[in-house]
Amino acid sequence: MVIVMKAGASQAEVDAVVRRIEEMEYKPHVIAGVERTVIGAVGDERRKGQLQSLETFEGVESVVPILKPYKLASTEIKKEHTVIRVGDVEIGGDRLCVMAGPCSVEGEGQMLEIAHSVKASGAHILRGGAYKPRTSPYTFQGMEEKGLKLLAKAREETGLPFITEVMDTSQVDLVDDYADIVQIGTRNVQNFALLKRVGKCKKPVFLKRGLSTTINEWLMSAEYILSEGNPRVILCERGIRTFETATRNTLDLSAVPVLRELTHLPIILDPSHGTGVRRFVPPMVYASIAAGADGVMVEVHNDPDHAWSDGPQSLDLPMFADLMQKLKPFADAAGRSL
Ligand code: PEP
Ligand code: MN
Repeated sequence: MVIVMKAGASQAEVDAVVRRIEEMEYKPHVIAGVERTVIGAVGDERRKGQLQSLETFEGVESVVPILKPYKLASTEIKKEHTVIRVGDVEIGGDRLCVMAGPCSVEGEGQMLEIAHSVKASGAHILRGGAYKPRTSPYTFQGMEEKGLKLLAKAREETGLPFITEVMDTSQVDLVDDYADIVQIGTRNVQNFALLKRVGKCKKPVFLKRGLSTTINEWLMSAEYILSEGNPRVILCERGIRTFETATRNTLDLSAVPVLRELTHLPIILDPSHGTGVRRFVPPMVYASIAAGADGVMVEVHNDPDHAWSDGPQSLDLPMFADLMQKLKPFADAAGRSL
């Protein structure tokens, strides 16, 4: 249920509603909007009729059910777009957000060269995997904490915040301490224990869509994180599995307008994993922005042909610089700054 407070309701009135929601053994989530505050009360669906009694509380305008199965992620509870601040960077605001960096952290020289270069080209966030979910157990599995340290060093030198993946609940504390954004990869989109755990993180969570999750299932996964109390969730479409084999995955661009209707959360597209082919990445970056995405994540490497993972889909440094230049008119056309 969503409890809509009157415009100008006092803090004491909000607090009284929150206390009553807790007494009824629901979890209150206070969302302060520009005009009014709404309070989501989530919990046992079977008893939700009880919450209707809040209509008589001072400062309450209405109590309305949320019809969608995901509640906190839904535009039914919050119409305004969620803007997530990471240092000086905003994700979901007027300015587009470009995340760039290698698939995997491979070493100091590699990481620093890429970080300085993508920064000079105009990237806003650095990416790099320290824990890698690889299809084969015989391929490089990531540098783990050493990789996190190198990402932290790159952040120190460039000022770029960084995003990195966490694969297991046992790694969450460490990754949450180092990273600016915690990534949940495609393969873990329905790892509910992990989703609940990152719902307690201090940092925003970047939730990639699963290879074959529907938009509804994906938003339910976002709901797992939100319902644990972390309101800072970013959705990332990274391609789904279809019958097509010319590309590694099929980047579902239509997910962008669909998500716009269904959720207030920021939407980032990842055309690197979405296509798997370097030369197809730039056109799909432009298309992502045209479709209304809040930004993109792009794999970039200083020597893609020798990258330890995902080389074929990684742009080299000049290609990324060129992409950032060519992106400007698309950003303008979409009414966004870069
Ligand atoms: C990655 O970002 O390198 C990654 C492993 O992505 P995904 O989970 O989308 O495959
Ligand atoms: Mn990758």
